[in-house]
Amino acid sequence: MFLTLFGAPGSGKGTQATHLVERFGIPQISTGELLRAEAASGTKLGRLAKEHMDRGELVPDDVTLDVFRRRLSQPDVAGGVLLDGFPRTVPQAVELDRVLEGMDRQMDRVIFIKVPPEELVNRLSGRLTCPVCGRTYHPVLAPPKNDRLCDRDGARLIERDDDKAETARRRISVYLDRTLPVLEYYRRKGLVSEVSGEGDIGEVRRRIMDAIAAPHGGGE
Ligand code: ADP
Ligand code: ADP
Repeated sequence: MFLTLFGAPGSGKGTQATHLVERFGIPQISTGELLRAEAASGTKLGRLAKEHMDRGELVPDDVTLDVFRRRLSQPDVAGGVLLDGFPRTVPQAVELDRVLEGMDRQMDRVIFIKVPPEELVNRLSGRLTCPVCGRTYHPVLAPPKNDRLCDRDGARLIERDDDKAETARRRISVYLDRTLPVLEYYRRKGLVSEVSGEGDIGEVRRRIMDAIAAPHGGGE
């Protein structure tokens, strides 16, 4: 199964992905995580990516696609993947279709998690991220069991620089301009299931599971 979790920064893609990968036994591919790892390794590509990420802008398509293709060439993707935060531009979506075709695969479903913009800033400006596994928390909305430590691996949680209110707002505006058109691209193919991302995490998870179980276009 090839699934995409689509939504604005802060809509809950990473949170819901954690559950779905366990449920379906497929790996999650988060281009945000891949790009942060590339930036941390200090390669030329990574430094270029970081400049864009720090400003809340999208990383150029050629860089993102390079990192993505490398990940997709690994053997664990054969049974399907859960994409989180990719594709974020129409050219990325077109290239993804081409790559999947080469693997004799196709996108099965795009789950659009819809959250109003004012709620997104609240969520992002408090977000705590595990630097080891990428899991996210929120001190009020989704607190970890132990103060500032990841439930899964006990690592100390950090606040991402690009989650500062000003950069978060920029990312949401970039999402509206550059990423929302990708939704139209998939709507035309009849692949989109829309679910509300409001309410508690378990509730949203149930909506997503119902949407996946429904026939194509279910949940809209
Ligand atoms: P969020 O989960 O809040 O949406 P991500 O971790 O997915 O954030 O992405 C962080 C940053 O990484 C983005 O603001 C952008 O700069 C870059 N990025 C991630 N995925 C892509 C992509 N598919 N195309 C371009 N830039 C990307
Ligand atoms: P994305 O990957 O789409 O950027 P995250 O999954 O990291 O979003 O979630 C953004 C923030 O909102 C995190 O701090 C997370 O703990 C919190 N969050 C996720 N889902 C919900 C929800 N249903 N209600 C309240 N807060 C949530």
